[in-house]
Amino acid sequence: MEDLKRAQALQAELTAWRRYLHRHPETGMALPETSAFVLERLREMGFEPAELPHGGITALAGGKRPGKTVLLRADMDALPMKEESGLPFASCREGIAHTCGHDMHTAALLGAAKLLKEEEDALPGTVKFMFQPGEETLQGAKSMVADGILEQPHVDAAVMMHMAPLLPTGMVFYGSGTVAASSDPFRITVRGKGGHGARPHLSVDPINAAAHIHLSLQELISRETDAADPAVLTIGTFHAGTADNVIPSEAVMTGTLRTYNKKVRDFLLPRMREMVELTAKAFRAEGEFLVTSSVLPLKADPAVVNPAGAAFQRELGGKAVESHEPMCGSEDFAEVTDRVPSLCFLLGGGSREEGFSHGIHHPKVRFQEDSLSYGAAAYVIAAKALLSP
Ligand SMILES: [Zn+2]
Ligand SMILES: [Zn+2]
Repeated sequence: MEDLKRAQALQAELTAWRRYLHRHPETGMALPETSAFVLERLREMGFEPAELPHGGITALAGGKRPGKTVLLRADMDALPMKEESGLPFASCREGIAHTCGHDMHTAALLGAAKLLKEEEDALPGTVKFMFQPGEETLQGAKSMVADGILEQPHVDAAVMMHMAPLLPTGMVFYGSGTVAASSDPFRITVRGKGGHGARPHLSVDPINAAAHIHLSLQELISRETDAADPAVLTIGTFHAGTADNVIPSEAVMTGTLRTYNKKVRDFLLPRMREMVELTAKAFRAEGEFLVTSSVLPLKADPAVVNPAGAAFQRELGGKAVESHEPMCGSEDFAEVTDRVPSLCFLLGGGSREEGFSHGIHHPKVRFQEDSLSYGAAAYVIAAKALLSP
């Protein structure tokens, strides 16, 4: 309970940090005020933080004794939406809000940084902090990996946390395996030849071709995907045409592919492209398949989860729960879990019984701030468990 007690002693500071971040949300890859705040706090603690070329902040604790390097990550970005929490420290910016709890993540990781800095002489190895922009846009983790966050020193294990509203305050849920699906949002453009609705033989009808593409894509799930490896393919928009008697020149569909297995994803994406291009061709149209952004499945490695989980059980007692449920929607930290054995844990942010009733991305979502010290403690406990030789 030692680390939890130390974290709880920081509760007032954690809350103040969180409220500042909550009040000043920023979206995407450029987070000037958030970054300035994090850099300032880290410098106050005695760190020499560095900004990565395309966004994000890193800092190191320990390294005075030889050992492994463990990465702890918090995402810092907010969402382009209106906040309706009614909190006194609600967003001061119209149309931007911290409704995914990334303000909680950032404050908790700052708390962990402070605790680990205090005992860095005793750490058997190095803790690397990753304060990430652009999670919601699925760009941040990829960009920080490309900018070298996993090297110098080389990262041996990585840890991420996400708030889980509607679960009891301070509960830590962790598990092994694929904990969140991959996500590949895509756009399909079918180009034909517009003309008069009464003379289709003089046109190439993109709606007809797109309808066949729409149907044939589902056959990839029902006929070509192993039923034991779930995959979901949804077309969420289908737009074409302006008048009942005009054949348009273009039809556009957008959708998303979700899988729990990289092999399934690697099989389906090229097959989807083929299906689009060849089906369009069969109807004399031209089909284009574009994946607009993507995330791999989020993987938690038992080699990392087991020692960290045992430490959670020991240090947090009944607050630590091993779970086999998928964790959440997609999460861009998958860029890290694809390369480094990782732990992904959820932190309870307040249950219905405690008076909390909205999930993440809801304009009215609120979090019980006492969970911040549990989050900070869990980061510290995981880091020390994974460093211990
Ligand atoms: Zn989110
Ligand atoms: Zn999130």
